[in-house]
Parts: sequence; structure tokens; C-alpha cells
Amino acid sequence: MNIHRTVLQLKKREYITPNYIRLTLTGEDIEPFATCTVGANNKIFIPPQGVSRVNFPPQPVEKEENVEKLAIRRTYTHAGLSLENKEMYMDFVAHGLSGPASRFAMEAPIGAELGVAMKIKESELAPEADFYCLVGDATAIPVIRATLASLPQEAKGAIFLEIPTNEDKQIFHKPEHIQVKWIINPNIGTNTLLAQTAIQYLEETQIEDSKFAFVACEYENVRTLRNYLRKEREWTNKEVSAYSYWKYGIAETKSEKSRREEKASI
Ligand SMILES: Cc1cc2nc3c(=O)[nH]c(=O)nc-3n(C[C@H](O)[C@H](O)[C@H](O)COP(=O)(O)OP(=O)(O)OC[C@H]3O[C@@H](n4cnc5c(N)ncnc54)[C@H](O)[C@@H]3O)c2cc1C
Repeated sequence: MNIHRTVLQLKKREYITPNYIRLTLTGEDIEPFATCTVGANNKIFIPPQGVSRVNFPPQPVEKEENVEKLAIRRTYTHAGLSLENKEMYMDFVAHGLSGPASRFAMEAPIGAELGVAMKIKESELAPEADFYCLVGDATAIPVIRATLASLPQEAKGAIFLEIPTNEDKQIFHKPEHIQVKWIINPNIGTNTLLAQTAIQYLEETQIEDSKFAFVACEYENVRTLRNYLRKEREWTNKEVSAYSYWKYGIAETKSEKSRREEKASI
């Protein structure tokens, strides 16, 4: 698998809604990313606080004290690219300063370095189906936006998106018969009605034989929806694509194992 890894510089920060930041990154070496599908995931490498350069891990660490200078790896979504302007775009939930990625999005100075790596390939975001149900929280807005844009105009179904405030709603280009349902939850990660709301809709809706569900949000909602779709409704593995994008109270690299185990559980 061909992976392209490079260091980009922060060019622009834009709050597209109160809790959502679009970063524009720039660099001479973005051309290989043009092959990648918008909506596919990437890895970003954030220099720890007090370090200005990206030191990609793993790499030979000559002195013990350099370990703490290694960049911190996180997973994000390729939100777009302009070859002409040598720009790459990524959308970040601004969830505070405790997460290195969120902190970078909120505070890094213009010109700051960010490492980016992606598999150089085209990806299918959603298979062909007559009925779609896409469920996510704010972390999944970039992939759901790209998925909606890839669906045929006659597609039917609904998307469910959990966001912290009414002002965090975004406008999507979408097929006419896909409904958008926003769930407002100021305590993102707790007291969530996301899975419950999607389940209620699926219980009350006539669903075609050809169907597809995509779920990307906090661990507990993913677990609830995977169990419901796979065990109670007996949707097949190919009809359900579900990923924990993060786990409440736990940093990404520390929750990787449990999120992988949950995915493999059914
Ligand atoms: C395939 C994939 C694609 C993703 N794409 C995107 C994307 O395009 N945009 C995006 O914003 N996120 C995306 N995410 C989610 C993102 O990787 C996580 O939210 C990640 O934990 C953020 O890293 P951090 O350094 O900010 O926080 P971490 O250091 O990982 O976590 C610090 C603390 O913040 C909490 N936390 C983490 N994320 C959130 C959140 N969203 N809201 C509230 N609390 C949180 C953690 O539970 C922990 O307590 C994606 C994840 C995956 C697996």
C-alpha cells in the first residue's frame, strides 16, 4: 500500500460554526493526496506543546529525551484539496484544549507544522443501495457530507447528526429524499439520544431490501447501533459500516484497542 506522508503548514483557520473549525493547510508536496477520495480518513501528526517541528514516529530516537518530542498521531478525514492553491482542508470539532488535535485546531499559530499521512487510493464511501441510514456526531460531518455527495439523486433514507448547539447545523448538498435530522446535545459524549433517535426512525420506517447503514460517532452509540442493526434487525456485515470515532474520557491512542475490539465483536 502506497502511503504518502508529508509536513504541511497551517495557512488559515475558519470557524464554520461555533464549535467547528476548518483548517487550510498548505505545502509543496500535496499533489499525491489528489488521488485520495474526499471523505477517506487520514493520520495527522501534531508536534507536542513546546515543539515546533514534526518528528514522525517511529523514527530513530537518538537520545532518550527526544521521545517526548515525537509528534502525536490522530485520525481525521480528508475534507478537500485545491491543487492550484496547494491547499488541503480538514474540519475539526473544537472540543477543548485537552486533546492535542483539538488544541492544534483552536490555537496553533498560522505557519505551524502538521504532519499528514494518507493511503494513496480511491475509496468507496457507500455501496449502491435503495435505502441509506447515516448516523454520526460532529466528528463524522466530513465523511457524511462526502458520502451524501456521492449518493445517486434517487437515494432514499435519513441522516442523523448529533451536534452541541443549534448554531452548529451545517448545510449539505444531498439527494432530495434523504431527510436530515439534527440532535442537539450540549454534553457531547454523554446523555445522548443519537442511537435511540435513529433506532426509533428505523422501527417506524418501511425499509427496502437493498439497504446500507453508516455509523460513526462516540463508542457507546456505535455499540448500541451495531447491536441493534446486526443482532436485532439481522442486517449483514456488508449492510452495516460502523466505526467508533472516539471514546468519551479517553484519548485516541489509548482507546484504539477497545474501539477495534468493539468493531470485531459482531
Ligand atoms: C476514521 C476517523 C475519522 C475521523 N475524522 C474526524 C474529523 O474529520 N473531524 C473531527 O473533529 N474528528 C474526527 N475524528 C475523531 C477524532 O479522531 C477524535 O475526536 C480524536 O480523539 C481527537 O483527538 P484530540 O487530540 O483532539 O483528543 P484526544 O487526545 O484523543 O482526547 C482528549 C479528550 O477529549 C475527548 N474527545 C475526543 N474527541 C472528542 C470530541 N469530538 N468531542 C468531545 N470530546 C472529545 C476524549 O474522550 C478525551 O477525553 C475521526 C476519527 C476516526 C477514527
